[in-house]
This record gives sequence, C-alpha cells and structure tokens, in this order.
Amino acid sequence: MQCPKCKSSQLQCSTLSSDLGVESCHECKGTWIPAENYADWQSRQSPRSHDRNYVMEALSVNFVQSPYDTRGALCPECSRYLSRAKVLLDNSFYVERCPNCQGIWCDHGEWDILETLGLHTTINQLFSAEWQTQVRQLQQMSKERQATIEKLGSELAELVFTVGEKLKDHPNGDFGVAYLMRQVSESNSLG
Ligand SMILES: [Zn+2]
Ligand SMILES: [Zn+2]
Repeated sequence: MQCPKCKSSQLQCSTLSSDLGVESCHECKGTWIPAENYADWQSRQSPRSHDRNYVMEALSVNFVQSPYDTRGALCPECSRYLSRAKVLLDNSFYVERCPNCQGIWCDHGEWDILETLGLHTTINQLFSAEWQTQVRQLQQMSKERQATIEKLGSELAELVFTVGEKLKDHPNGDFGVAYLMRQVSESNSLG
C-alpha cells in the first residue's frame, strides 16, 4: 500500500498502543489504520466519556503540526478523498477518515495526542456534526478568554472567569451580571 501523503514510500506493518495493527510510513511518519482493525481494537477498550474539560487539557498540549496535515489525500485502500475532522488544540490538527471504507489516517504525532486526550478510542465521534459544533463553540470560548486576558491582565481575568463560572451556576446569576454592568457603565459615564 502506498503512503497517501508523501506518496514516495510504501506503508509497512506496525502497531499502535501495543496491539492495534496499522500501516505506517517511514518517510512522513503517518499512520493508516484500517477500519476493521480499529473496530476490533476499539471493542476491546474500556469506554471513556468526554466532558468539556477536554478543551482545557487540549490547549495545554504542546504539539507541532505535521507539514503533511494540511495536504489532502486519497484513501490508500479505495482511493476516495479522505474527509477531515478538526481536533482542537492551540495548534489544531485534522484527523482524516475515508468516507467509504472508514479507514483512518493520522499524520505524525497525531495518534499520540489523541491518546493523551483520551480521544483515541472514539475517533469516529470526531467526525460527527455534534462534535464539530462543540469544537467550534469551545474554540470561540477559548478566543474570548484569550482576549479577556490580553485586555485585563491575567490576574483580573482569572477573577472574572471565576465570577463568571459562579454566576453561570447560580439560579439568580443574572442579578450579578446586571450589577457588574451598572458598575462598569456608571464608572465610564463619570470618567
Ligand atoms: Zn508518507
Ligand atoms: Zn477507503
């Protein structure tokens, strides 16, 4: 099987996470995971539920995107274009999957990150519309937090985040928000 990314070398038998049989490229270090191998391996893993903490973990992972990640590729088994699912990180990357045979392609380092985040046992979930919507929301939230830190400094920003969390969880949280709004608009009009 030829490597779908660098196209210059043949994929060779290898394993991931000790017992998942895959085909790896020695040139670009990408990995092809045949659908049946993945399904078989996945059925032997204990299920893990994901929560929104994923984004916080994800943002702290240090990762250098493979130069091959942005390159489109054809399935090495059935030659269909691989579709992409974005995985959120400070530096995002894409996991690719064949829409026909459901085989999965990970560029160099991507499997390790998925494993670190506990997403490696539910890769197919990354391709659902629901997951992708959640990723966009989390990304928006993380941009907003970053902008808040830049405007307020990290110390005050942390306070704001803490207060925000508490107000969000409180049944009368909107009263707190209204109070803050009044404080800020009064001081602006006086100043
Ligand atoms: Zn390659
Ligand atoms: Zn395919």
